[in-house]
Amino acid sequence: MKCVICGRESTKPVCGVCAKQIAMDRPFLLDRGLLVSEWGGEPEYRENGFVFPDEIRRLNEMGKRRLMGEDADGVMLAKFAILFHRRFSFILDSMEIDPGYYLKLAREFVEREESDEARYLLATIYMEMKEPEEAEKILEGIWRKSRDYAILYGKALVSQGKWGRAVEVYNEILGDNKEDAEIWKLLAEALYTSGNYEDAERAYLKALQINKDDYEAWYLRGLCLRRMGKWGGALQSFQTAIRKNPRYREAYEGMLEILMERGMYSRALEILKKMKEEGFDVDERIREVEGMVE
Ligand SMILES: [Zn+2]
Repeated sequence: MKCVICGRESTKPVCGVCAKQIAMDRPFLLDRGLLVSEWGGEPEYRENGFVFPDEIRRLNEMGKRRLMGEDADGVMLAKFAILFHRRFSFILDSMEIDPGYYLKLAREFVEREESDEARYLLATIYMEMKEPEEAEKILEGIWRKSRDYAILYGKALVSQGKWGRAVEVYNEILGDNKEDAEIWKLLAEALYTSGNYEDAERAYLKALQINKDDYEAWYLRGLCLRRMGKWGGALQSFQTAIRKNPRYREAYEGMLEILMERGMYSRALEILKKMKEEGFDVDERIREVEGMVE
């Protein structure tokens, strides 16, 4: 095909030469107003979920200055580059440009900054790049300074299979705040993945004591019980998850696996019918199980 800008032969609608030119003029690659609903940053860049054209223009100008070594807020620019990576990476498909472009741009903005927030962002970027060992190194010295840093540190450890260390980290944060349900769940997840189902189940219970409506925690607790061979308790836990959220497919599947495995077909049929009521497409499975009940 031919490049839409210069007409040269190209594998993508925008050729490599034009893409580089665009990146030099506008590091964020875009220059129109865009819907950005999850941005929690500087209010002057956000109103009703929109980043306006003028602001994108300012962003590009600041980014360009920064890349040329002038003074500009690298932390803010990196936050936007990470946001663009999450939201707008798809535009890279039509350009001869690296799919990790926005992440590398974000790294460029904070790499040489010394502040804790810049270090944390750099670690976030490495996690997005699937390089948790780099994120771990960066967070090593600062994770105790904030709950968010500690959570990211724990995630970096878990994704490398360093569950024991992750458990220590989560336990240390819980030392200050035992009412933090999210940390209990992260701790439980690390315990579960390491094969310690009993402690994982206890940690999910702690999370549920703080928020008994957390259907996901009910479901995950059910998985622990199942692994421990306590299938009755597992069924109850999945059932509670369904009561809290009747559209929660995983919990139905959790129940069905146990019931089918144990030959409890008429109860499995009840569950499938309940699923049908909730709008799930299970007609074929209902017929199958009906055949087994007879
Ligand atoms: Zn071109």
